[in-house]
Amino acid sequence: MTETPHDLSAVVKANDIRGVAGEQLTVPVARALGAAFADLLEAPELIVAHDMRLSSPELSRAVIEGAVRRGAIVADAGLSSTDQLYCASGLHRAAGLMVTASHNPARDNGMKLCLPGARPVGRDSGLEEVRRGAEAYIAAGEIPAHGEGRAEQIDTLEDYARTLHDLVELPAGRRLRVVVDAADAMAGLTAPAVLGALEQIDLIELHFGLDGTFPHHPADPLRPENLVDLQEAVRREGADLGLAFDGDADRCVVLDETGAPVPPSAIGALIASREIARARTAGEERPRVAVNAVASRHVHEVIAGAGGETLPTPVGHAGIKRTMAARDAVAGVEHSAHYYFRDFFFADSGMLAALHVLAALAESGGTASALVASHSPYAGSGELNFPVDDAVAAAARVRAHAESLPAARVDELDGLSVHHWDEDLDPAERWWLSLRPSQTESLLRLNVEAQEHATMERVREEVRALVLGAVPPPVVAAAGTATAEHDRVAEGTSVDALGDGPALAEEAGSGDAISTCPELLPAGASGADVPGWVRAALRCPDCGGELRDVEAALQCTACRRLHEVEGGIPVLIAGRHEVPSAG
Ligand SMILES: [Zn+2]
Repeated sequence: MTETPHDLSAVVKANDIRGVAGEQLTVPVARALGAAFADLLEAPELIVAHDMRLSSPELSRAVIEGAVRRGAIVADAGLSSTDQLYCASGLHRAAGLMVTASHNPARDNGMKLCLPGARPVGRDSGLEEVRRGAEAYIAAGEIPAHGEGRAEQIDTLEDYARTLHDLVELPAGRRLRVVVDAADAMAGLTAPAVLGALEQIDLIELHFGLDGTFPHHPADPLRPENLVDLQEAVRREGADLGLAFDGDADRCVVLDETGAPVPPSAIGALIASREIARARTAGEERPRVAVNAVASRHVHEVIAGAGGETLPTPVGHAGIKRTMAARDAVAGVEHSAHYYFRDFFFADSGMLAALHVLAALAESGGTASALVASHSPYAGSGELNFPVDDAVAAAARVRAHAESLPAARVDELDGLSVHHWDEDLDPAERWWLSLRPSQTESLLRLNVEAQEHATMERVREEVRALVLGAVPPPVVAAAGTATAEHDRVAEGTSVDALGDGPALAEEAGSGDAISTCPELLPAGASGADVPGWVRAALRCPDCGGELRDVEAALQCTACRRLHEVEGGIPVLIAGRHEVPSAG
C-alpha cells in the first residue's frame, strides 16, 4: 500500500474530488474525507452512493465509516448514478456523497458532494473546509469519535424513476426504438428502471453489464471513438435514437437515427425551449435559463425567441446551480452535455435530458435528425486544448488582438470571451470565442463559433497562433483539426469532442487540409522541411497529439498516425489513416 499523502490539494479540485484510486485516493483518505464532510454538515443525515468502479465499494465503505465516526446518520444507497443520488438528496433533504470519477479511466476514482436538497459543494462552498479537515485527520492519524452515528441501507432507484416519469410525459401512440450505450457503467442500472419501464420505448441495451474495467470502451461519450459501437447499433437496429452515457450516467450524448452525434448545445436549446414553454404555460412571464460561457450562440437565440431570459454563468456545476437557485431559473445548459433542471432540485440529469428529447421526438412525428436540424445553425470548433507555459501571457496576447478590432466586445465572466457578432456586421465577420484557463493544468481551452464555417476556421487559426506565440500564419484554407484536438483532462468540466454547430459530422471526416503559407516551404520535401514554428502550431487532427518529422511525413507522437507532407505542406486529414503497428 502506498503511503497516505497528507496534502490533498492534488485531488480536491474546484468542483469535486478526483485521483488515482489506491495511490491518491486510499481507504484512509476516503475515511478522512467522509469524516470531514460530516463535520461540515448542520444536520447529521448523509446519503452515500457509489458507481461500479472496482475501487468504489471499499472507498464508499471508508467514507461511511469516517462519517459515522463523526456522528453522521448515513443512508447507504449502494450502486447509483450521480443524478440518482442528487434526486435522493433532494427528496430526503439530506446531504449526499457520490463515489465516482465520472468519465475518467478505470484506475481513477473520486467524489461528488452535495448539501441537503442537492445544493452544490464547490471550492468556495465547503470543499476547501472538507480538504483541510481531512488533512488534519490524516496528519493526526486518527478520527476522534463524536456523537451517535450509524449507517443503514436505502434503495433510491424507484423514487428516482418515479421522479423523472412525473417530470416528462411521453405521448402515447408512438413507439420509439432507442439504443442506450451504458459503457458498462451506471446507465446499465438507471436506463432499465427509467426508459425500460415506459411502454412507448423499445429499449435496446448495449454494454449494460456493470463492469469497472470498462471492457468495451471508456465511459466518455464526448470522445467520438467511444460512440462507434452505438453508431453501428443505431444503424443496425434501425433505431430512432441513440443515447450514450458517461461513467456515473449524469451526462448523456444523443445520436440521431443516422448515428450522427447531436451537439450538446442543440440538445440544450431543445430543452431550454421546452422548459420555457412549460413555465410560460404555467404563468411565468419571462422564465430564465442559465447558460455557460461556451454554449452555442444559438442557445441564447432560442431562449430569447421563446420569451425567456439567458443568465450567463461560468463553466462548472457549482456556479451554474447556484445561479439557477438564486434566480429561480427553469433550466441550465452547459456545452459539455450537462443539463440542469429547476424541477430536479436545480441539479443535472442526463436521463431527464434524454426523456425531454424522447418526448420532443415523439411529439414531432418525424425523425431525430429533422428534430434537431434547426438547432445547429452555426459552425463550432469544438473545445481545443493548448498546453502553454504562461497562460496569462497567452490570453493577454489574444485580448490585445481582440481590443484592436473595433467591433469586438470583450468580457471576463469566465476566462476571456470575445464577441464579434452584430447584426450590422457582414455574416462572414460574425464570430465569438472563449479562451479559458484549465483549473488544474497549464492548459488553455479555446472554443470558437461563427456564422460561417470558413470564418470559424480563420479565427481558430489566428487564435491558435497567438496562443502558441507564433506569428499568425496567413491561412489559405484551414480546416479539419477541431474535433479530435483534445488532451485528456481529469477535470469536472470535461473536454468536449462534440463541436457545436453543423461542423460536427463533416469535420471529423472531411478531407479539408491545413495549408500553411506555401511560399515559405520548399517543394518536394519531407516533414523536416515543415518549419518548426508551423509544426509547433499544428496538432494531429485525430487525437490532438504533437507532430514530429519523419520521412516524407509528420507523425503524431501520441497516436503514431502518419500525416503526409506534399511539397513541404502538411496534409492533415482527420480519420482515414493507417495506424502503424504498436500504435
Ligand atoms: Zn459524469
